[in-house]
Amino acid sequence: MTVDTTIAGGTLVTPDRMFEASLAIDGEKIVAVGDEETLPEADERIDAEGKLVMPGMVDPHVHIDEVPENRGGTYEAETAAAALGGVTTIIDFAFQGGDRRIADESKDLLDGIEHKKTKGNDGYVDFSVHGVLFRETPETFEEIEPAIDAGVTSFKMFMSTYEVGVSNGFIGEAFEHIAAHDAVAALHTEDPSVCEALTARLKREGKGDPIHYPDSRPDYAEAIGAATALRLAEETGVKYYGVHTSCRKAAEVIESFSDGGERIRAETCVHYTALDRSVHERLGNFPLIAPPIRTQDDIDAMFEYIHNGTLSVVSTDHSVYHREYKEVENWWDSPFGAQSLQRSLPVFHTEAVVERDLSYPTLVRLMSANPAETFGMPQKGSLDPGTDADVILFDPEGTETIDASTNASNSEFTIYDGYEAVGTVEKTFVRGALVADDGELVADPGHGEFLERELPEWSA
Ligand SMILES: [Zn+2]
Repeated sequence: MTVDTTIAGGTLVTPDRMFEASLAIDGEKIVAVGDEETLPEADERIDAEGKLVMPGMVDPHVHIDEVPENRGGTYEAETAAAALGGVTTIIDFAFQGGDRRIADESKDLLDGIEHKKTKGNDGYVDFSVHGVLFRETPETFEEIEPAIDAGVTSFKMFMSTYEVGVSNGFIGEAFEHIAAHDAVAALHTEDPSVCEALTARLKREGKGDPIHYPDSRPDYAEAIGAATALRLAEETGVKYYGVHTSCRKAAEVIESFSDGGERIRAETCVHYTALDRSVHERLGNFPLIAPPIRTQDDIDAMFEYIHNGTLSVVSTDHSVYHREYKEVENWWDSPFGAQSLQRSLPVFHTEAVVERDLSYPTLVRLMSANPAETFGMPQKGSLDPGTDADVILFDPEGTETIDASTNASNSEFTIYDGYEAVGTVEKTFVRGALVADDGELVADPGHGEFLERELPEWSA
């Protein structure tokens, strides 16, 4: 038998270990792992000497093209950023009735999923969506089962001041329905009225400089939100996933409800492990995101809670905004969100592995295997034969000073401007096809496919 490709001579990193081995790819699958001499003949041999061979990263928190007129990025550009950054699978969001700000009242969640699937046709990497529930009507609960049948097995709600925010009562009832289907509930947790009151006060005081922005959404507002959501999760028995944990106080609350991952799980994002609020002094509104970027103690806390297992996934919360929306005088006129898919692996590698001695298998668990398992994608996040050949070659000693000039994203700035990253992505394969090679895209847009996800089994 002859296979398409072997990746030979490198060091494989799996969720459990690192070892010298070679890997064979045929069609869309990994077909063998072992000493090169034991592998089948290949049409192409890729030399991975000195490189790490890892499963592609799986980012379960990505927003693409959520707002009208392509102002939220396009699938082609944002998944190009993903591919260049070694991210081979993303989970985006589908809203009831269409896009976030133009939901059609005559349409439902299934229409929103179809709408996003159409947009995703232009992508380079595989994608799924979380279903966003924001209409506080009993009919919403009837939209859960058809979404699961369509391969969407997780549902997100916002406890927030946003236009898609929902009440605690609705969240509790939705949790019951999601639990009855054994699906996953994902929550944005910041107490809305605390954030509203503090925002109003900062406006009254004229504190429009973005250095004040983090004070409008403090750590305790996030902890209050997490406590409320987790109490509701515990009462209903739902599988709960806390998104974008940013601070020590919220992580403490999550830990207090933790059960080893059988029903309670949570993520943090790369920026909460790498940046503190002083970034606003340099970059103004660009890093304005919610929850805000916080303090050095909160960065340290993210690693403490990664180490004890409370935080089991590291994502980006990639969101796309053009400069013009961010270059406004007062922070309250700026949208929240920033893109980072292209830089998430190099930056987290620098912070976690280079600076703090986190192991490579742990990095692979946090950014690839755990999100794949948490969200029902057994074919992803693995180098086992039989799984999808989503594979990256990573140079652990490559360096790059990050600046926006190499952004593939539609967004023209980066929150990591000037960051000295260690570790570069050299090649990205998505289902056996080489998509990005040495900083260039080498496949056509449209290679990415929609993934129908399973209902995940969570075991501790
Ligand atoms: Zn988000």
